[in-house]
Amino acid sequence: MTRIIERLFYRIAKRWIAGYTLQDAMDAARNANQRKIHAILNRLGEHTPDRRLIQQYVDEYLKLLETIQSENLQATISVKPSQIGLAAEIPFYRDNLLKIIARAEEEGRFVWIDMENSLYTESTVEVYRELLGTHKDLGLCLQANMKRSENDLKDLLPRGGKIRLVKGAYPENGEVAFKRRSELNANYFRLMRLLFERGGFFAIGTHDEKMISEAEKLSRDHNANFEFQLLKGIRDDLKTRLLSDGFRVSEYIPYGPEWYNYSKRRMRERKRNILLLIRSIMG
Ligand SMILES: Cc1cc2nc3c(=O)[nH]c(=O)nc-3n(C[C@H](O)[C@H](O)[C@H](O)COP(=O)(O)OP(=O)(O)OC[C@H]3O[C@@H](n4cnc5c(N)ncnc54)[C@H](O)[C@@H]3O)c2cc1C
Repeated sequence: MTRIIERLFYRIAKRWIAGYTLQDAMDAARNANQRKIHAILNRLGEHTPDRRLIQQYVDEYLKLLETIQSENLQATISVKPSQIGLAAEIPFYRDNLLKIIARAEEEGRFVWIDMENSLYTESTVEVYRELLGTHKDLGLCLQANMKRSENDLKDLLPRGGKIRLVKGAYPENGEVAFKRRSELNANYFRLMRLLFERGGFFAIGTHDEKMISEAEKLSRDHNANFEFQLLKGIRDDLKTRLLSDGFRVSEYIPYGPEWYNYSKRRMRERKRNILLLIRSIMG
């Protein structure tokens, strides 16, 4: 990207990310807390096999947990497996994840694990399944666009799995993923019902009003322990409405200089965002 386009893109991306630094993340978390919203902080970065860089990411998560604690914020973290070792090798990833979990447990904080593209799904689920028996405050994201997610969900729930259900942000082929919007949405409904029927703690991660109103309906029939999770900068009106209806709401807040890939995914999700970028380039 040329410098100018990058700067214009950043101006748009800024609504989805807290900024470049840990302090920016703290400010965004504080802002969420002031709105009665819990924060889920994510240090951006992914797909790195470079062990030195991975170590820096792990250290930053430890620092993040320490700062959340010292600033007494209602916040937790979400990590990307390929950022903390899975793009190098599985045992390295597991060790790094365990270091982060150990610090979070000392401070009574929950750790979420993001789900990335299908290259990493099997090992991400495998390591989660393995750690679940001994680490209760650990949650995993499952993507409704992935055909395997129903089996993963049915396998993980009886083991005490804590799931964040999302639609899925990565382009995948038709062998592993539902390509039609209608199939993806139908699967989201199906998996959401399973969560309400069988889940312990879980999270509904979407901005889709159809999914959200179905979740609201299901919550009336089931005594479920769940929260809504939405991304920073998207549908703030919905967050306010859900809070006033008595639901718990968390906001996923990413930060860090590696904002480009994340923002590209947000851009792709909505034509209007692309138009915004084109307009700011033209104008
Ligand atoms: C808390 C949280 C954590 C997530 N973690 C992961 C993860 O670990 N792995 C993963 O693959 N995906 C993750 N996602 C992203 C998710 O997979 C979707 O890509 C994203 O949430 C958009 O889908 P949607 O459910 O909002 O539905 P959509 O049908 O895409 O959108 C529904 C409505 O939401 C609004 N909306 C959605 N996206 C945008 C946007 N970019 N800009 C403006 N408005 C928008 C629009 O009003 C749209 O009509 C996460 C999402 C959330 C909320």
